[in-house]
Amino acid sequence: MRVRTRIAPSPTGHPHVGTLYMALFNSIFAAHYGGDFLLRIEDTDQTRSRPEFEESIYESLRWIGLTWQEGPDVGGPFGPYRQSERTDIYRKHCADLLRAGKAYKCFTTAEELEEIRLVSQKTGQKIGYDRRHRNLTEEEINAFESAGRPFVLRLKVPLSGDVEFTDRIKGKISVPCKDVDDQVLLKSDAFPTYHLANVVDDHEMQITHVIRGDEWISSTPKHILLYQAFGWKPPEFLHMPLLLGPDGKKLSKRKNPTSAFYYKQSGFLPEAFRNFLTLMGYSMTGDREIYSLEEIIAEFDPKRIGISGAVFDIKKLEWLNQQYLIRLIPEEELWPRIREWGFNDTFMKRLMPLVRTRIRTFGDFFELCDFFFTSHLPWTKELLLPKDTSEKMVVSILQCILWGLEENEKWDRTAIEEVSQTVAKVFDVNHKKIVIPILFAVFMGKHQGPPLYDSFVLLGEHITRARLLQSIQFLGGVSNTFQAELKKSWDARLGLLVK
Ligand code: GLU
Repeated sequence: MRVRTRIAPSPTGHPHVGTLYMALFNSIFAAHYGGDFLLRIEDTDQTRSRPEFEESIYESLRWIGLTWQEGPDVGGPFGPYRQSERTDIYRKHCADLLRAGKAYKCFTTAEELEEIRLVSQKTGQKIGYDRRHRNLTEEEINAFESAGRPFVLRLKVPLSGDVEFTDRIKGKISVPCKDVDDQVLLKSDAFPTYHLANVVDDHEMQITHVIRGDEWISSTPKHILLYQAFGWKPPEFLHMPLLLGPDGKKLSKRKNPTSAFYYKQSGFLPEAFRNFLTLMGYSMTGDREIYSLEEIIAEFDPKRIGISGAVFDIKKLEWLNQQYLIRLIPEEELWPRIREWGFNDTFMKRLMPLVRTRIRTFGDFFELCDFFFTSHLPWTKELLLPKDTSEKMVVSILQCILWGLEENEKWDRTAIEEVSQTVAKVFDVNHKKIVIPILFAVFMGKHQGPPLYDSFVLLGEHITRARLLQSIQFLGGVSNTFQAELKKSWDARLGLLVK
């Protein structure tokens, strides 16, 4: 049997470091056994999927030196590799299940579902849907259909027994079927759910090993039930330990920079970053920490994959990166690499218009622009807090700027300026009060810098976001309760008065 692994990211945002982490292990696993590693784009969420995010996935994977044998961009014998182009395949398989009496049409309305949810919450039921349309008669189905009532297709999950599988990392998992929902397979727009499309594709693409993050383990019983309903042999499962933040909880975008591009733009070496990611889930013999991709591929042993989550420790990453710089990057390569990272012509061509009228000598250049190239900003409370403004106020402003920027589809001057104007309006403060903390948080407190919004654009969303986040944390952070309150008011764009 030829080993085939895959990653199946959804192009709904810029790639998370977790995507690179999973891609690495899938690629290492396949290469070790002489198999294939493929890339499938799971873009069934029509409202959130974007072609530019798909591009970012490719770019980030290439950055750490990964290649894939099959995928939407390179083709292959099991295509198409984009789920939105495979809807006929899912519908055909669903029709088979319906015919075999293993799935049913469910006409329950959104209001009814909400009622059911509230009741099951009260009674502590594990399943969210009470299976009320599981046994409709032919006449009832016809009546709903002729009334034009929309429906979803659900799987008839067995009512008794257990669903079991053995995860190669976690061991045997068993869940009583009565606790598993009659999952939706096709939505009312006839688009597949994640569960259906994922299982059909893994089967059709002959995936032998599903290696994915621990967060998907709760979906796996549903997948096993689907394999059983189709009469297909499930692949083997390996659920990898999660990447954890410094607080020991799942690495989250709300608290840590999680975008792969943040690390690229911060100036980490791709080979060091790749090495670091493998350390998160795996230990080499002899506790070696510095090794090449070829070495881990050659020596790979799934038994050495960790069981518990690994802390994504930036200090460790910095240390490792430095080791690469000292030991593995020859001196003559240093300047070309730094130039390629931050001093390349493309970037400089964009920066020059922002500086040309603001420097007296070339010597002024760095004073003006150092914040584009530094990793650590020397924040102080004095700098971050404008006069008569409380810490809570500044934190709230920065947090709302962050949300505003996140909601933005575009990363351009007008859109960014609009966000800061909106924040000023919502807080009912002079726009200067908004701009000062931003200046200090993102641009190291330069009163005489290049133009603010153009600099934002050039610095890019990943670094800007991370700096806002880090300065919020520097000021003591936001408690979960306060953050929830603030978010509600921000979403409603209520006038926010924070003392
Ligand atoms: N589309 C899922 C994701 O975004 C795939 C999970 C899996 O590997 O099954 O990660």
